Amino acid sequence: MTFHSRQDTAAALDAQLGELDLAGRLALVAGLSGRAVFTTSLGIEDQVITAAIGLDRLDIEVSTLETGRLFQETVDLIGETEERFGLAIRRFRPDPADVEDFAAKYGINGFYESVEARHACCHVRKIVPLGKALEGASVWVTGLRRSQSGNRANTPFAEYDAERNLIKVNPLADWSIDDINAFVEAESVPINPLHARGYPSIGCEPCTRAIKPGEPERAGRWWWENDEKRECGLHVPDAAIPSLNSSSL
Ligand code: SF4
Repeated sequence: MTFHSRQDTAAALDAQLGELDLAGRLALVAGLSGRAVFTTSLGIEDQVITAAIGLDRLDIEVSTLETGRLFQETVDLIGETEERFGLAIRRFRPDPADVEDFAAKYGINGFYESVEARHACCHVRKIVPLGKALEGASVWVTGLRRSQSGNRANTPFAEYDAERNLIKVNPLADWSIDDINAFVEAESVPINPLHARGYPSIGCEPCTRAIKPGEPERAGRWWWENDEKRECGLHVPDAAIPSLNSSSL
């Protein structure tokens, strides 16, 4: 796909995907030319997508970012999911030298001290490995949903990601948490046991807490920061994160 055709394809897909169910959406994506990569955090919505890919044996790679700071429950779920759906999940890990550089500058848990340090840690442990996972891909599938947070309220089914020059597809954009739970139950999808302990959204262990009743789904992520739009940078352009570049390490 050329630069322009990816833009055009993304616009056409965005219009088409809303008419299909999840299996149809993913089958359409799998049939596009080029490599499609789904990046999973092993969260409940990502488990739904992995299940749909595995059950229909779709030609979509499943990859995850093993940051080195995940909950043990999350790490265990990777293997359990591979076994359940008979697929291989590719692991992408941070470069040890980058982690050492981060620790020397900020301290290994320096992400609590400033937004700059937190973005620098996410850069080393997530953004750089994500770049490797998406290398050469033409389509990036994610589990983003509109109702996860105000920041995600306008999530399209498909869009052109100019920064990475690929088509980003969000096949669960219009799904509610009730839709997710119903699918999980119907297909006996293995999920992270932390969800039942008050963690609707699960990231790295030191940066995720359980939420209180009535709090938004993502309130437990980087809870010590005040910015309502806080994200790790995976789903926002670099330009929106001032400190997110190698020079901040
Ligand atoms: S979520 Fe926390 S530990 Fe994980 S990469 Fe980001 S700052 Fe580092």
